[in-house]
Amino acid sequence: MKISEPPKFIPSINNNEDWMLTLVNYNNPLPDTYKPVLKSLSNGLQFDARAIDQLILMLSDARAQGLSPVVCSAYRSVEYQQKLFNNQVKKQMAKGLDRQQAELEAQKVVAYPGTSEHNLGLAADIVSLSYQHLDQAQANTAEVKWLTRHCSEYGFILRYPEGKRNITGVIYEPWHFRYVGIDAAKEIMESGQCLEEYLEFKESALAKTSSTTAAKVIR
Ligand SMILES: [Zn+2]
Repeated sequence: MKISEPPKFIPSINNNEDWMLTLVNYNNPLPDTYKPVLKSLSNGLQFDARAIDQLILMLSDARAQGLSPVVCSAYRSVEYQQKLFNNQVKKQMAKGLDRQQAELEAQKVVAYPGTSEHNLGLAADIVSLSYQHLDQAQANTAEVKWLTRHCSEYGFILRYPEGKRNITGVIYEPWHFRYVGIDAAKEIMESGQCLEEYLEFKESALAKTSSTTAAKVIR
């Protein structure tokens, strides 16, 4: 399946070798075969085994504060994402759109297979037990307020913050938390950068360091 015109505004940063910082967005899809080692949460949803303990700890600390966070979505295989996407394309084609138009329309509802962070296994949608809706009002729940304030202590970031859609390609999603490791999470949440900006910043800092080193060697 091909899409003729991918959005051009999303930066592409492919040369990152740290698994915690793997960038997944429209320009950085995962291969069809990508499958992390998974472990299950108590509700049966799966998460990357390397980070699930941090997720469980964050949730139990939230519960200790009297809160009731609910993980409503975690890992989804690329295959399953493809199925969701194909169904949506079929639906759109049934409305009379040609395949290309149908695919563009489908992408507004379902992420293109491999381009969803849920395919990576390091993202969880977390909502309040008393408000289980994926909309912006989720940001006003005590659960998401607590998570937003404390997630970086467990290595998580609010992946799609407000006002970053032109970079992430995704609308503000106050419920979507992504594991990146504690160091990166603290830097990202404190600086207000999104993951794309953070990786770009890190890369250019690295390039500067190595060119300084090179200059020293030449001298
Ligand atoms: Zn999500």
